[in-house]
Amino acid sequence: DQCLDRAKKTKKLNAFITLTPQVAQEQSLRCQKRLQSRNKLNLLEGISVCLKDNFCTKDIRTTCASNMLKNFIPTYNATIYSKLMMAGACLVGKTNLDEFAMGSGTVDSIYGPTRNPWCYNDNWRIPGGSSGGSAVAVSSGSCVVAIGSDTGGSTRNPAALCGIVGLKPTYGLVSRYGLIPLVNSMDVPGVLAKNVDDAAITLNCIAGPDDLDSTTIKSAFKPVLIKDDFDICNLNIGIPKEYHCKDMSIEVIECWQYVTDLLEKLCKISCVSLPHTSVSIAVYSILNQCEVASNMSRYDGLEYGLRTKTNYSTEELYATTRSQGFNNVVRSRIFAGNYFLLRQNYEKYFMKAQKLRRLISDDFKNVFNGDNKVDLLLTPTTLSEAPLYNDFTAKNNRDQCVLQDYCTQPANMAGIPAISIPVKLSKNKMPLSLQLMGPALSEDLLLNVAKKIE
Ligand code: GLN
Repeated sequence: DQCLDRAKKTKKLNAFITLTPQVAQEQSLRCQKRLQSRNKLNLLEGISVCLKDNFCTKDIRTTCASNMLKNFIPTYNATIYSKLMMAGACLVGKTNLDEFAMGSGTVDSIYGPTRNPWCYNDNWRIPGGSSGGSAVAVSSGSCVVAIGSDTGGSTRNPAALCGIVGLKPTYGLVSRYGLIPLVNSMDVPGVLAKNVDDAAITLNCIAGPDDLDSTTIKSAFKPVLIKDDFDICNLNIGIPKEYHCKDMSIEVIECWQYVTDLLEKLCKISCVSLPHTSVSIAVYSILNQCEVASNMSRYDGLEYGLRTKTNYSTEELYATTRSQGFNNVVRSRIFAGNYFLLRQNYEKYFMKAQKLRRLISDDFKNVFNGDNKVDLLLTPTTLSEAPLYNDFTAKNNRDQCVLQDYCTQPANMAGIPAISIPVKLSKNKMPLSLQLMGPALSEDLLLNVAKKIE
């Protein structure tokens, strides 16, 4: 009740697309019954959660913040939602996002932009994205934990800008079944929480193999255990020099230096190189757009969602449905993706990008397994504090959306886990955060070290 009340009181932030009071009530009644019968408690018994509105929820509208799916009511649940319910969680609502999770600001939703709870009045700031609604729901107290999706940074970016923890697990550790796809080879459900402990408990509930998603890792998941006496003195933490990019704000660099100095007193710090970082953003864009072009072809006006009226031809039905159903960002990605996939361009763009993706992934393998191997990498999460809405959406500034992924998207291309941790406030009293990345399936180490930094 408190969470739902809070969600209503903070309506101005526009974190929610749909509130689900009835569902929450039914679920909490079931919790109360379990409590009365004094059975062993589930891990998330009675804990309020939110889901980004690109996870399918049976009989609950799932919109992707798009005209295309404005009235889409799924007939099945995403595995992650089934697992959360089995763990006793109660669903407060479905949260706002950039249309089809394409963006870094939560500014491109048919339901309007979401506001950052740290600065939401007149000249307000963006919450980051695309899981901005989920980050705001947690940071403003409308739920304890929220689920986002992370394709190029969409969980870590809004977590960083809203001052909470954002975890992107190893690719395949958490089922994508029922997550409406953006880029199948990079999408991972992510966790947004107030602290590392909450993120770890949630991960323990949602991770593990799933017969309904053939890309999940088959081996059994070993739950993460946060240890109070975890010792980091034998660790070697790498600082990748390429992450000092020219667009990074001085405050972010100082914050990074501040934590590096603190860690240097406790463990070994090494400067390392990930030489392909500079091309990473271009490679990400090409691969993203190619997979988007292919994924979005399912929205043909026949199978799901919007169907426009036309009495001319099937082709016209596709065209009018898509031009009315998708915003400019989605349409331009479909357009670019199809261009890269044309027979005469395929080698030059798609194949080349695939090869570079392998090199980017190998860069990580080399620093984690090479001669001077490091255990984890420490970098900033975003290039700056949360931008002002007016600056972020200014016409000549639209490439900010792409640039903001500079530090986050390489982890998606390599499939490795990463976590964003809030560190301090900027001069403007906005959160500044850092990111830790580790080798595939190093969640236990990653979360234990994150807890030390937190
Ligand atoms: N900003 C990135 C994009 O627009 C990341 C999106 C995401 O992680 N869902 O593709």
